[in-house]
Amino acid sequence: MKILVLNSGSSSLKFQLFDMLKQQTLTHGILEQITDHHQAITAMEEILKNSGFMSSMSELSGIGHRVVHGGENFQIPTLIDEQVIDTIEKLIPLAPLHNPANLIGIKAAQQKAPQVPQVAVFDTSFHQSIPEHAYIYGLPYSLYKDLKVRRYGFHGTSHQYVAQQAANYLESRFGKKASELKLISLHLGNGTSATAIHKGKSIDTSMGLTPLEGLVMGTRCGDIDPAIPFYLARETGMTIQEMDDLLNKQSGLKGICGENDMRTIVAQAETGDARSELAINIFCYHIKKYIGAYLAVLDGADAIIFTGGIGENSSLIRERSCQNLQNFGIDIDSEKNSSHSKAVTEIQTDATAIKVLVIPTNEELEIALQTRGVIEQKK
Ligand code: ADP
Repeated sequence: MKILVLNSGSSSLKFQLFDMLKQQTLTHGILEQITDHHQAITAMEEILKNSGFMSSMSELSGIGHRVVHGGENFQIPTLIDEQVIDTIEKLIPLAPLHNPANLIGIKAAQQKAPQVPQVAVFDTSFHQSIPEHAYIYGLPYSLYKDLKVRRYGFHGTSHQYVAQQAANYLESRFGKKASELKLISLHLGNGTSATAIHKGKSIDTSMGLTPLEGLVMGTRCGDIDPAIPFYLARETGMTIQEMDDLLNKQSGLKGICGENDMRTIVAQAETGDARSELAINIFCYHIKKYIGAYLAVLDGADAIIFTGGIGENSSLIRERSCQNLQNFGIDIDSEKNSSHSKAVTEIQTDATAIKVLVIPTNEELEIALQTRGVIEQKK
């Protein structure tokens, strides 16, 4: 059984072909600076054929599409039909950059492989279990009723995947029941988000209506006083578009120290660059605040999970984010923290109550697994 996972962006197409029996990647690739998604899908088909793992698209058991915003309409991964496409289209105002690109990818793939079932897997679905008191903002309730202004949350496939990995690990090693686990998952990549997970379900997450809220990110500001844009408009005359660009693309780590790649920032801090050091401190301080908040939300935790490019690879960021949390039962062992492994790795000291786990995420595999689940249900 072969499943193709597509992540269609506005100017790029990422693809990964899975053998679902072995749960293994057969081949993967990225086509960048594309302008025509139909051409890109044709180019991808050629690459897949030349790889020797597939002779025709019709061989696929399914195609799984990453779709960024499912609003309140999609609680679970969904088999794509005309009505699903219509609904994703209606959600474009909530994700004006992402959903249109996702839709173009879906339509191009449908044309290429009309017989193959296609499944939409949404970044938002995992967070649809968040309770009302955590997703309604302190705004007039009519904004939720009329315009669907609420917290949705993103990175859902990643949080769900690492939570499942953590549950498997904690159950097999310590006999902990997955159905009782309390987890705090920290996805730290270019985008960063924290999620509180209880009994396998998301009960709060740091991103909101859009992926701008929450932790400080590579180029996004995360939590700020919402009055800052009004102040800027009054003082500088900036337009809405300019502020959107400022908060999404010129802020976060990049805004603080001029760089958004954490490897570069760490290297610069090591040579004594004060602004890079400040950027690291701000980044870690925000993570720590969310750990504290979610410990309160969950009434304790069994494990904290670090994932994403930074979470998986930077011992410095993990250490600083968990510094001086011993009173809360969190204590990282620096030796374990510096040893690198591709599997689930425990990095807390022996005597600590809360496990600190480094878990490589695999959003594409999670999309493939969810796609298979939908296809098998259909049979
Ligand atoms: P995306 O969110 O685009 O999927 P990733 O999850 O790959 O991105 O994360 C990218 C980030 O991970 C970059 O900031 C990169 O610098 C950082 N990163 C990767 N390896 C390391 C490392 N060894 N130390 C620090 N940061 C790292």
